[in-house]
Amino acid sequence: MRLGFGRRLAVRGRGGLMLTPAYRFCPLCGTALASIVAQEDSGPKERLRCPSCGWTHWNNPTPVLAAVIECGDREGRLLLARNAAWSGRMFGLVTGFMEAGETPAEGIAREVAEETALQVQRLALIGVYDFQRMNQIIIAYHALAQGEIALSPELAEYKLFAPADVRCWRAGTGFALAD
Ligand SMILES: [Zn+2]
Repeated sequence: MRLGFGRRLAVRGRGGLMLTPAYRFCPLCGTALASIVAQEDSGPKERLRCPSCGWTHWNNPTPVLAAVIECGDREGRLLLARNAAWSGRMFGLVTGFMEAGETPAEGIAREVAEETALQVQRLALIGVYDFQRMNQIIIAYHALAQGEIALSPELAEYKLFAPADVRCWRAGTGFALAD
């Protein structure tokens, strides 16, 4: 799942997107990074850059895969899971980062299998959603799946819901669930 915990690269403050010290040194040459204004296609732009070699921390959003899992062998109920790292009683979609060398569809089928042991039979893209608070872009699939459920250690528990009974939170993956 690894949904962004400990990967805080930027935070929003009064002045908009602020640079944080998550990256302190240039990954190419080791020089301390600095907030430097440089000319880009859209005009002058302040970013974290390397004063020595010019490396730029672009801070592009990270693609995250998400699955609304429909259990084909459990009367079409939806599986929502609670992350072991979450406080409270929030249940959410199964999510994970794309790996190099896989398609989004391959990636979400892998995540569903890793996190729940369910086997995905069919995938359909629900949509693509911004999640700016975490600087992520969410690629959400409807995953028809079946099999025995065995959670990975990253998930504390799961619940099965009739589709009509889920309440969709007003952010990120909640919009995907609503759609
Ligand atoms: Zn450098």
